[in-house]
Amino acid sequence: MRLSEAIPSLARYLPPPRFQWPDGQRCAVMLCFDVDGETTALAENLALANRRTLMSQCSYGPRIGVPRLLGLLKHLDVPATFFVPGYIAEQHPQMVKAIVAAGHEIGLHGYLHEKLAYLNETQEEEILLRSLEIITRLAGTRPVGFRAPWFEINPWTPALLTKHDLAYCASEMGDDVPYFHSNGLVEIPGQWLLEDWEQFAFNADPAWGVIPENCEKVFDLWWREFSAMHDYGCCCVLTLHPWLSGRPSRVQLLEDLVNAMRAKGKVWFARGHEIADYFHKHPSARRELVFAQPANQIG
Ligand SMILES: [Zn+2]
Repeated sequence: MRLSEAIPSLARYLPPPRFQWPDGQRCAVMLCFDVDGETTALAENLALANRRTLMSQCSYGPRIGVPRLLGLLKHLDVPATFFVPGYIAEQHPQMVKAIVAAGHEIGLHGYLHEKLAYLNETQEEEILLRSLEIITRLAGTRPVGFRAPWFEINPWTPALLTKHDLAYCASEMGDDVPYFHSNGLVEIPGQWLLEDWEQFAFNADPAWGVIPENCEKVFDLWWREFSAMHDYGCCCVLTLHPWLSGRPSRVQLLEDLVNAMRAKGKVWFARGHEIADYFHKHPSARRELVFAQPANQIG
């Protein structure tokens, strides 16, 4: 319950929604699964391939987490977007086929989960083309979406994505509804708050994360943000990693969360390409926030 709901004398602040979603929906929810798998470690250091336990923890995502999550998504009848590094698609081709067969979207996520900030434009384009070829071949359909590893893009990234016919990027954090880059590429922004790494990641060496959080705390964290985003008419981009959120109690956390979201009503559960397509067709759906002018300056 919101504090303002607990105190009846306080009027709730309900601004006009930021975005006009289809069919009178109040907000959109984009469920994202970043299937980093073994690249979580290999992007850091290829020598980590010899760490059997570490690699087994990483591969839990594509091998155990993804099929379990696909089962939940089917039960809930909600679509999702899976961002898969090219290397992981090569290592787990049956996983790619299962995701596509279940009707979900597959987007690009680098080849070996490379940090774009350490690449020049030529290197970044080579990796983009390599991952595009792999995902297109294994998924049987050409992807249109891109999520940068670690959410970080370079100044030239939007132009590269447009050059190679991608429709959207889901990497920046500058808003809570979609917007257009200057070249017309759609951005579907996310945020660290709605990410599971910060809540659940832990590994001893290399040292990842701090402490795996209690699911009830995480439910509260994500529910409060979703609930407020629903009030504000936002696009709630939830980003989960199957090696973390494919663990049993967290799959049940996701089940509880999606059921609660649905029960709130007027929620559009959409894949990235659906949001990008809708925005391209309805560019005026977005409402800009502007500072009010002081009264003595009006006119
Ligand atoms: Zn990732």
